[in-house]
Amino acid sequence: MLSEFDIIRCYFSRPAPGAVLGVGDDAALIKPARGMEVAVSTDMLVAGRHFFADADPRKLGYKSLAVNLSDMAAMGARPRWATLSLALPEPMVRTDEKWLEAFADGFFGLAHAHQVDLVGGDTTCGPLTISVTILGEVAKGKALRRSGARPGDDIWISGHLGDAALALAHEQRRIVLEPGEIMECLPALHTPAARVGLGQRLIGLAASAIDISDGLLADLGHILKCSKVAAVVKMGDIRCSASMKRHLPQPLAIECLLAGGDDYELCFTAPRARRKTIETLSLEQEIPLTRIGRIREGGGLVVLDAAGNTITLETKGYDHFHV
Ligand SMILES: [Mg+2]
Repeated sequence: MLSEFDIIRCYFSRPAPGAVLGVGDDAALIKPARGMEVAVSTDMLVAGRHFFADADPRKLGYKSLAVNLSDMAAMGARPRWATLSLALPEPMVRTDEKWLEAFADGFFGLAHAHQVDLVGGDTTCGPLTISVTILGEVAKGKALRRSGARPGDDIWISGHLGDAALALAHEQRRIVLEPGEIMECLPALHTPAARVGLGQRLIGLAASAIDISDGLLADLGHILKCSKVAAVVKMGDIRCSASMKRHLPQPLAIECLLAGGDDYELCFTAPRARRKTIETLSLEQEIPLTRIGRIREGGGLVVLDAAGNTITLETKGYDHFHV
């Protein structure tokens, strides 16, 4: 059976060119560049709650980092370093080195693509749990926050929403997707693209930002609360896939679109005067950026359907303590 040290040595020790000192001592040493501050965020994924225990380990390795990269994107930070803590069930450690190999492959593949160094972590026996802490750099005082939205701002989203939730609903047999629709929606669930480059470009353009992990309503709700403002969103303006469009009249699909979560797109607000610049940025980055509504004075979030009627939903977003 592999010891903790074997696991770290075999699978999780890689050179860390961006750190002063990487894996192998009591602590890593990192040094942000001059004029930068450090953004830190942690995300934990638990088998049975955030993913199926038999999920593809390569995709799991990818996603465990991707969801953290997405938090860096939401702050406009450049991700630089990460730590990884793994609780692994004993039978898995004893018999399933292939799992570790594939997981590490998925994790480091994405880390390499973003020049993120793994600088530390921990392993233990227990129910399969993956916790990643990410550290990034952002110019002093420039980070995007949830608290900057002002009345009159446009509300923007990147990419399109709802596919991950639709794919999950299919896997849970709550909805039936055609094979072509599964092909279209499944990558959003397993291998989301964190909008890291876009986030950095939004510094100086966006007034506030958040990444959509718990669903548009819940996450835009965080911006509204932190900024002490209200919003109106037009559901028809939210960009969605052909699969989502086909299912949209159903309440379940509407729920996936507005409150499904796991999108890892950015939701941000910006003054009207920035429209042209943001549209140019969209072309440059080859990422659709769509205006879906407007910030207003007051409190609360109203979503309108095509006829201008208010949509009400039971679920406002994924709540880890009430599912
Ligand atoms: Mg977030």
